Amino acid sequence: MITYPQLGTMINGGLVNGLPVWIQPGGPGTLVLPQQELGQQVALFSFPCGHWSNHMNVTVEQSAPGVQSALLSCPLCSYLFRILTPASLYLNNVENYILLP
Ligand SMILES: [Zn+2]
Repeated sequence: MITYPQLGTMINGGLVNGLPVWIQPGGPGTLVLPQQELGQQVALFSFPCGHWSNHMNVTVEQSAPGVQSALLSCPLCSYLFRILTPASLYLNNVENYILLP
């Protein structure tokens, strides 16, 4: 059985190219610092980490033999906010049209 990172935490642990950039002082499920400036908080998506972006990261990983899951995360800090199993649910815009929490 493959275990994923905990929901509400950063997949990359706050590292960017091996350097610590993002911190989550409140623990899992809380805001990630630093936040964007007010003028940067305009985008298609706002994530639970407090960041804004016009896209999200989707990582498809095998969760069990023959089964894949899609991990949806913030493209800035890698905050994991949703896991879809099977991963094909990500492509089903009819039954799974609400992708964000
Ligand atoms: Zn983020």
